[in-house]
Amino acid sequence: MRQSLHYYWRQYWHKFTHTSLVRAVVAPVLASLPNRCLLCHQAIAHPGKGLCGFCLQACLYQQETCLGCGRQLTCSSDFCGSCQRLQPARIVAPMSYHTLLGPWVAAIKYRRQFVAIPPLCKALLIRVNHLLALGYVRPVQALIPVPLHPNRLKARGFNQARVIATELGAISGLPVLTDILVRVRDTLPQAGLDGRQRRHNMQHAFMLKQCPAVFSVALIDDVVTTGETVREIITLLEAEGILVQVWCLARAEAPELSAR
Ligand SMILES: [Zn+2]
Ligand SMILES: [Zn+2]
Repeated sequence: MRQSLHYYWRQYWHKFTHTSLVRAVVAPVLASLPNRCLLCHQAIAHPGKGLCGFCLQACLYQQETCLGCGRQLTCSSDFCGSCQRLQPARIVAPMSYHTLLGPWVAAIKYRRQFVAIPPLCKALLIRVNHLLALGYVRPVQALIPVPLHPNRLKARGFNQARVIATELGAISGLPVLTDILVRVRDTLPQAGLDGRQRRHNMQHAFMLKQCPAVFSVALIDDVVTTGETVREIITLLEAEGILVQVWCLARAEAPELSAR
């Protein structure tokens, strides 16, 4: 009798935990526990670390990727064939947005959930060092977070790019420059716009308040899709003779939006 009760309880619990409603409620609660991996929910050795080494490793790029478009490469190179001709901005990310960790990168901005930031910042710096050793990127002297318009900053309460830049600065020792660049146009969110609309949306959106006394910087953002946002800033900084590369936590490859 006791065994059959146990059996029915297990059946009930299995059904209960597999309804989509419960999954939607329970999974985030489990994942938010500080000593459990965000993805597999297994206990991890260091409380607050957020991700187990296996899940993190599984989400990171497994092979070289084009620094221009994010396409996977079959041999070691900075750019794919198309990007070699165009020489676009170099965008460094530790992983594609299209992984199980993608929603946790989105959660930084939309749910104020910062737990993925420390492990992904470390992974990003490891990737930067790897590319430095290969000669595919130059050393940078400072980090510049992509600014939000004051209206957006007021509504959200924080700038996710600045939070990420602060973490990267703390790990790397690089200074974070927050006062040289401003967003002067309250643009529409880029998500949902096509390639042409994204380009138009970002025109004249930023202004350089002062020229930083450096010659090589990394622009910091949470996610880069087509790169239209950072392209506007790069134009401003390059006009001042500053070399710019882009560092982000995830690359949302979208070839259909990038087509010119
Ligand atoms: Zn895990
Ligand atoms: Zn490419």
